Order: sequence, then C-alpha cells, then structure tokens
Amino acid sequence: MIRIGLGRDLHRLVPGRRFLLAGVELESDRGELGHSDGDVLAHAVIDAVLGAAGIGDIGALFPPSDPQWKDADSMELLTVAFGKVKEQGWHLSNLDCVVTCESPKLIPYRERIRAALAAALEVDSDAIFVKGKTAEGLGPIGEGAAVDAEAVCLLEKL
Ligand SMILES: [Zn+2]
Repeated sequence: MIRIGLGRDLHRLVPGRRFLLAGVELESDRGELGHSDGDVLAHAVIDAVLGAAGIGDIGALFPPSDPQWKDADSMELLTVAFGKVKEQGWHLSNLDCVVTCESPKLIPYRERIRAALAAALEVDSDAIFVKGKTAEGLGPIGEGAAVDAEAVCLLEKL
C-alpha cells in the first residue's frame, strides 16, 4: 500500500531569530518567528508524513498553546511525529520539498539539509530532495518578510 502526503508552512522572518531549515542554520540577518524554533521546512515535513499516514497534523500533536513546545527543536518534533507514523507500519519512500524565500540561497546548504531529513526519516539522502525558489520580489515572501515551505512525501507499507 502507498500513501501520498502534503505539507505546507509559512513563517514570518524577523531580525534576532535563527534561520533554520531541517535543523540546519543558514547565515542570515533574520530568521523564522515562531512559538517553537520556527523551522518552516521541518514543520511542512511533519504535516506531510502525518497527513500521508492519516493520523493528524502538527497543530494537533504539538499545540502552540502548550508551553512545553515553546522554543522546541522542530527536528525533535519531526522524530516524534515520524515515530507515530512508523508505529502504523509505514516507512518513507521519498520526500520532495520546495522552500521559497528571497534570501539566503539554499544551494550551499542543500546536502546538509537532505542529510538531516534523511537521518530523521531513516532513509538514504537520495530519497530526499529540497529545492530553493524565490518569489521574484513579489508579495511578503518577495519582500523578505516571510519564508514558505512545501513538502510532498510517499509512504509505503508492505
Ligand atoms: Zn511552522
């Protein structure tokens, strides 16, 4: 059996915060605002794997109203979420992601991001891909005020 999952997230970018993608810190004068560490890519991937397994979403599993998730490490949240997916007998076939922001450029960090996601999702890096796009200067993302991430995954159960 195979199941597809889709996740999407957006965070404001503000000075004084770290810019994290799958736990990898990118050099930037601003970073994601959020109750947790704001890791937009980790959050999109969590929703993709949970959605594919049909077992909820990030807001249900880690409510922002719960103080225990304040400044949480989102890659730890991904490990917890994927643990629940694995409990249902699923494993990841592949994951494909798009991150949209004006800066910084994702390319120099891509292999580290792939490796971090591969480790969390227990697959080889070649089962993970991440693309960086810009918004061509349009809208809040184009103005550098936000970053958006989308993730699509395939789960398999034997
Ligand atoms: Zn988020």
